[in-house]
Amino acid sequence: MINTQDGSQRLPMQGVAQPTRAEVLNLPRVHISTHPVMAHKMTALRDKNTAPPDFYRLVKEIGALLAYEATANLTLEASTIETPLQAATGYRLAGGIGVTPILRAGLGLAEGFREVISDAQVWHLGLRRDERTLQALEYYNRLPHQVDLQVCYAVDPMLATGGSAIDALNILKRRNIPRLCYVGIIAAPYGLLKLTQAHPDVDVYIAALDESLNDYGYIVPGLGDAGDRQFGTL
Ligand code: URA
Repeated sequence: MINTQDGSQRLPMQGVAQPTRAEVLNLPRVHISTHPVMAHKMTALRDKNTAPPDFYRLVKEIGALLAYEATANLTLEASTIETPLQAATGYRLAGGIGVTPILRAGLGLAEGFREVISDAQVWHLGLRRDERTLQALEYYNRLPHQVDLQVCYAVDPMLATGGSAIDALNILKRRNIPRLCYVGIIAAPYGLLKLTQAHPDVDVYIAALDESLNDYGYIVPGLGDAGDRQFGTL
């Protein structure tokens, strides 16, 4: 509950104006997957009858698909190698790739990312939201101080109010990484607008854009609590 100025109490998103889906559909730097395999996996993920082991597997698979989309424009550098037959010029990703799962719901997505980029560095960041105020609170930070990355992806499945994503990117920006991206599974128009306003220089990759947030700050239709459904704490 939020205490209001007139002394009454209200639920966190009760009476808060939200943009419509149509209003945020074409924001710059926002990429919403149109891949049919993604739509297929999303349907199974949203289904309330999908049990935690399958839910976690789907989050990883969706993470891999999102990683594939979000890494399409990475910078390469030429690299000479020897094939069994002769010398050849190949290409390697320039600089390191970082993935920052926002604990704990981001863990499955980060695992999916690592299936595409196995040598990505994983920087864990613990942010939890205060269910009363919906503010993000930092409780764990394993970000190194020496960094040599071309890009870091902050990954968190649900972009609801945007609080955790905005805070995570603020923390990552202090490491002077040349490029930052946010990768999530489902966004609400409210959180997407807040995130793009706070970080207009960040590319956003999501699998789906939903209708709105309910009074408690849950995305609808959504999929429920992404952390609980991955880890069986229902
Ligand atoms: N976090 C979740 O796990 N689900 C939501 O719908 C919103 C925030």
